[in-house]
Amino acid sequence: MREKLLDGKALAGQLNLKLKAEVSKMVEKTNFQPKLITILVGMDPASNVYVNMKKKAAAEVGIDSNIIILEENSSKNTIIQEIKKLNGDNNIHGILLQLPLPDSLRASTSEIIDHISPKKDVDGLNSLNKGKLFDYNEELAPCTPKGIIALLEYYNIEIKGKNVTIVNRSNLVGKPLIFMMLKRNATVTVCHTSTIHIEKFMKAADILVVAVRQPNFITQDKIKEGVVLIDVGINRANGKLCGDVNFKDVYEKCGAITPSPGGIGPLTVHFLLRNTFIAYKKLMI
Ligand code: NAP
Repeated sequence: MREKLLDGKALAGQLNLKLKAEVSKMVEKTNFQPKLITILVGMDPASNVYVNMKKKAAAEVGIDSNIIILEENSSKNTIIQEIKKLNGDNNIHGILLQLPLPDSLRASTSEIIDHISPKKDVDGLNSLNKGKLFDYNEELAPCTPKGIIALLEYYNIEIKGKNVTIVNRSNLVGKPLIFMMLKRNATVTVCHTSTIHIEKFMKAADILVVAVRQPNFITQDKIKEGVVLIDVGINRANGKLCGDVNFKDVYEKCGAITPSPGGIGPLTVHFLLRNTFIAYKKLMI
């Protein structure tokens, strides 16, 4: 029988160890350490926690990293100039713009990201890398969907021929996941706030991926018996972190389920580091 709890944290731990060994071998060969730079605009407390978590995780696998903090009221051009400097620095292999940007810059997000060299775009959000994914090239694809696929594959959960419903259509999660699921021959349905009769699509899912920013969005009446439930959401409720799924309520009815926290989050961080290593190797050739 298949394991029911899809332990993303444990898998990320294994993958990080493997990556650490690969990094160490390459550094021995090249005498050059991979380096990731995160640009943080403003001092949003949640973003601040995330960037420091990524810095710590990078150090654990032997990737050097630094955080560049720009003022909350920085102009679009200031950020672009910073990106251009990093593009031209041969010691830097990965550039990450921490999202979301402050409200005043939100509409310019894609335009700014398009200034990151596609070769250093470890979040996979530059137009060139987004376009490659359209062609099923996942080399520098977004980290969260990479984590979802890795977790399903690790637990031998078949994707081919399955009805996959994704409740999210963001650039970071839902959109890239569409192509990754299609590549693996799933039948994909994407839901969002304008979806009518969303319950019908969620109940039809063999694999249900949810990332809506709402605790308790998924309860047992919304799912099919035996569904594989992937909870991407990270919310804070009553001072505690939780996902979008009422875990206790749905557990019995699911075929398999990720916890949140401890599911997709650690895998997202892993794939950021893996993408940095991929970028580094290509830049070192
Ligand atoms: P986002 O850009 O706000 O996207 C939320 C999506 O959910 C949108 O597509 C929205 O639809 C849809 N949605 C919201 N409420 C809905 C409802 N009632 N019914 C149907 N669809 C609904 O957020 P995001 O950046 O993709 O992140 C989503 C969640 O995942 C957040 O909790 C975030 O913290 C988490 N996250 C976790 C990881 C991780 O590593 N575990 C990584 C990334 C994100 P519209 O498009 O119509 O607005």
